[in-house]
Amino acid sequence: MTIALGQITCDQIVEMQMPYKTPLELFMGATAEDIDRHRHWLEPWALCPQTGGAILAVQSYLLRTSHHTILVDTCVGCGKTSAGFEPWHQRTDETWLARLGAAGVGVEDVDFVMCTHLHIDHVGWNTRRVDGRWVPTFPNARYIMSKADLDHAAANPDPKYHESVLPVIEAGQALAVEMDHALDDEIWLEPSPGHTPGHVCVAAASQGAQAVIAGDLIHSPLQLKHPEWGFLYDTDPDFATQTRRAFLEQHCETDRLVMTAHFPAPTVGHVTRDGDVYGFRFRGAERIGIPADV
Ligand SMILES: [Zn+2]
Repeated sequence: MTIALGQITCDQIVEMQMPYKTPLELFMGATAEDIDRHRHWLEPWALCPQTGGAILAVQSYLLRTSHHTILVDTCVGCGKTSAGFEPWHQRTDETWLARLGAAGVGVEDVDFVMCTHLHIDHVGWNTRRVDGRWVPTFPNARYIMSKADLDHAAANPDPKYHESVLPVIEAGQALAVEMDHALDDEIWLEPSPGHTPGHVCVAAASQGAQAVIAGDLIHSPLQLKHPEWGFLYDTDPDFATQTRRAFLEQHCETDRLVMTAHFPAPTVGHVTRDGDVYGFRFRGAERIGIPADV
């Protein structure tokens, strides 16, 4: 589904959606009673009734402005090392690339890749293997990454750094920026540290319409009801929680469209108030038969 934001169009390019670990494993502070209390609205679309796993999407956002074609986050990719998680390890499924093509964008058309942060499910298609070497997938793109996350990744080099970040730097295509970097008056970054030290959101605005790509400051709709729950892979869970609370409060009952990275489809919507916590009004919920308001 293409979303129009004034003169900007936005498409979700989904790589996969599947159950992962259970919420008890993923979220710090979650109890079995908490999960039971929310089960009725989470199953089956956000919580797998068979495995008990949280269902999460992995996807990119394709923004087309009058000036630029921009890809925000690049999923898991192919051939990448994911020692801890088999379904992401050495993938050979190129569906994501085909979906990008079906949206009318070839790899040479992308002007900017913007990474909300440098985790494996956000940098995978940054590169692909050609003749045994990792090379940038998008030959004409500048890759915008926050300095803070680049420094953190360089200080803790692991396979994803060597496979998906360093080759972009070595090709001269990386642009290390401050966390509030503005591309122009339509697209800019907003600092949202905690999940990683240099985590950023990507904001888009045109003709009065506004949206923000939230990255991993929130992972599941469950965290709307429990913003205090840190996530297993947060670098600093307390800081991440502080950032998540501030973000939810800032966006609550506003017309700024929130585009999450990992909520299951339809993924995007508006933050609403639900007592002293939050809800979400999904855009396009009726299309796939999930509750419009959670
Ligand atoms: Zn992620």
